[in-house]
Amino acid sequence: MPDMAEHVSCREIVDLVTSYLEQELPAAEAALFEQHLNFCDGCVTYVDQMRTTVAAVGRLGEEDVPPETQERLRAAFRGWKRG
Ligand SMILES: [Zn+2]
Repeated sequence: MPDMAEHVSCREIVDLVTSYLEQELPAAEAALFEQHLNFCDGCVTYVDQMRTTVAAVGRLGEEDVPPETQERLRAAFRGWKRG
């Protein structure tokens, strides 16, 4: 096991993805975020979906995301994140 203290968790990826995609993360946090993506295929998929959503709506906001899309993202998240 790597030292997880230096890594963000999948939950943190979900929390940070909006800021990351809007390039609002400090460089150090963005680096940790990208580091996580190097070994977590689930989050790569999640971030790709979020990026697509952002591109579609222009700016990410929970209220701007169609319920259908939100549900798809939640389902994708549940799909890989068990326990
Ligand atoms: Zn992850």
